[in-house]
Amino acid sequence: MAGCPACGKGELHRGKVREQMFGVDLGEYPAEICDSCGESFVDQKAMRKIEARAKELGLWGLAKKVSIAKSGNSLVVRIPAELARFLKLKGGEDALVRPEGREKIVVELG
Ligand SMILES: [Zn+2]
Repeated sequence: MAGCPACGKGELHRGKVREQMFGVDLGEYPAEICDSCGESFVDQKAMRKIEARAKELGLWGLAKKVSIAKSGNSLVVRIPAELARFLKLKGGEDALVRPEGREKIVVELG
C-alpha cells in the first residue's frame, strides 16, 4: 500500500467516497483513503465520472469570477446568468446577505 501524500504518515486503502459540488450530492466513487488523516484520492477515471455527473446536474462552471461594482454607498455583485438559472432567480427576490468569516459572503434565498 502506498503512503499518504497529504500527511506522509498514514497508508492508503481502497474505499469509497461521497463527492459533492456546491452542496449537491454527486454520488459515491472508488478512492484511496488515508487511514491516518482521512484524506481521499480519486483516480483519473473516477474524476472524469464526477465531472460528467456535475455537468449532467448543471453544476459545472457555476463558480465564476465576478467583480464588485460601486453603486452609491453600496457595492453590487453581479450574479452570472447560468447561476441565476440554476438558482431559479429572476431578480426582485428578497435575500439575506451575511459574512462567513472575512473572505466569504453568503446570500441566503427564500
Ligand atoms: Zn494521510
